[in-house]
Amino acid sequence: MREIESKDIQTWRGKYPLLNRLISMEEVFWINPTIEKFQTGMNKSPLTQEDARDAEERLKRFAPYIAKVFPETKGMNGIIESPLVRIPSMKQSLEQNYHQPILGELLLKCDSHLPISGSIKARGGIYEILKHAEELAFQHQMLTIQDDYSIIDSDRFRSFFSHYSIAVGSTGNLGLSIGIISAKLGFKVTVHMSADAKQWKKDLLRSKNVKVIEYEADYSKAVEEGRIQADRDPTCYFVDDENSHDLFLGYAVAASRLKKQLEELEITIDENHPLFVYLPCGVGGGPGGVAFGLKLLYQDHVHCFFAEPTHSPCMLLGLMTGLHDKVSVQDVGIDNVTDADGLAVGKPSGFVGKTIEPFLSGNYTVSDNQLYKLLKELVDTEGIHLEPSALAGMIGPSKLCKEGIDYLQKHNLTEKMSKGTHIIWGTGGSMVPDEMKTQYYQKGLKLALEK
Ligand SMILES: *Cc1c(COP(=O)(O)O)cnc(C)c1O
Repeated sequence: MREIESKDIQTWRGKYPLLNRLISMEEVFWINPTIEKFQTGMNKSPLTQEDARDAEERLKRFAPYIAKVFPETKGMNGIIESPLVRIPSMKQSLEQNYHQPILGELLLKCDSHLPISGSIKARGGIYEILKHAEELAFQHQMLTIQDDYSIIDSDRFRSFFSHYSIAVGSTGNLGLSIGIISAKLGFKVTVHMSADAKQWKKDLLRSKNVKVIEYEADYSKAVEEGRIQADRDPTCYFVDDENSHDLFLGYAVAASRLKKQLEELEITIDENHPLFVYLPCGVGGGPGGVAFGLKLLYQDHVHCFFAEPTHSPCMLLGLMTGLHDKVSVQDVGIDNVTDADGLAVGKPSGFVGKTIEPFLSGNYTVSDNQLYKLLKELVDTEGIHLEPSALAGMIGPSKLCKEGIDYLQKHNLTEKMSKGTHIIWGTGGSMVPDEMKTQYYQKGLKLALEK
C-alpha cells in the first residue's frame, strides 16, 4: 500500500475543508463539483448503452435455467428482480424525527428481497458467473445462443463446469451470491471472507459446498489473497470486485427493470419530475452500476447519491481528493470499523470512481447509530426488515432537503421538488436470521430511547 505522507494530509485538509469533518468521522454531505451533463459525461465513459443492453439480453437467455434451478424465481420466469414500494409512513417518521419536510414521494427498492441471495449482489455477482459459464460453454461447443438454457441444469454441464474453479474476496454478500450460483452450476468455488463477514453467511456457504477462507484483516486483504491464489491456478476465474466491468453491468440492468416498475406505479420521470436515488456504497460496483444504468435511461433527470458509513467513507475520500484507489480511509486515520458489514471497505474501486465521477450528484456519510435507529423505524412504520448497511440511503432525502439547497438551486430543482420522487435503495437483509434481526431491532430501539 502507498504510504501517504502526513504533509500530504495537511495539504489536502487545507484544499478540501470537508476532509476535516470526514477525518473526525462526523456525518458529512458532499456535492460533486465535477458533475457534468449526461452527454458530456458519456463521451468519457468506458462503457456504453450497448454494454448494458447486452447484459440485459444475457440475463434473459439464462432466465429458463434460473427458473428451473431456483424455484423461488419461477413466478417471475427466472428474472431475478425485487419489489419497488411506496413507504409513506416511514416518510412521515423521517420528517418528524429529523425536523425536515421531504418534498416529493418516497419509495423503497427492496433489493433486500431479491431471490437467491437476498442482497443487491444477486444482480452483479450472479450475472458475472453466468457470463463466465456461457463463455466456457460456447468455447467448448456445449451451447449456442439459440438454445434453451435450461439444458444447463444437467449432469453433463455440472461435470463440465467441475473442471473449473471460481474465487472471490468479499465482506459477505458478494460471497453469498457468487458461492450459491457457482456451486449450483457445478463450479468449484472459494470465497475469501474479510473479518467483518457474519458467521451465518459463512455457515450458509459451507452448507452449499462452498470453500470459505477466513481472514483477520479487512476486505482489501481478502480480495488481494483471493487474487493471488486464483493467479496460481489457470482454471480459476477470479471475480474482481474492485475492477470488474461485468459486475458493474450486471448491476446496471436494474435500471430498465426499475423504469417498468415506475411506469406501473404511474410515476413520471422527466424534466419537471426529477428522480433522486440514494445508494449505499462499499467498493462502489453495486451503487455505481445502478447509477450508471439509471443515467443511461433518465440522463439529467435522475440525481444519484452514494451513502457510506462515517467509519468507511472510501468512495467519498477517493472522489474528493481525486486519488480514487490510491488512497484508503486508513491512510488518513479513519478505522474502517462499522457494523454495516456490506460497506466496510477502506479503499474504493478506481474503475468505478472514475467511471461514475461525471454522473454522480453527491455522497454523504451516516453513523452506525443512525443506521440502527432507521432500521428500527422502518420495521415499526412499514414492517420491512433490512440489514444495517441497507439503511444508509434512508437519510438521504432529509439530508438533501436540508443540506443540498445549493445543488437544488444550481440544477433548477427547487420548484420541482414537490413533483419529484425519492428512491431509497434497500440493498440487503431478507436472509438475515431472525435472531439477528431481533438483535438489530433491539439495538435501534435502545438508541432511539436514549435520545
Ligand atoms: C455490497 C453491498 C453494498 C454496496 O455494494 P458495493 O458494490 O460494495 O459498493 C451495499 N449494501 C449491501 C447490503 C451490500 O451487501
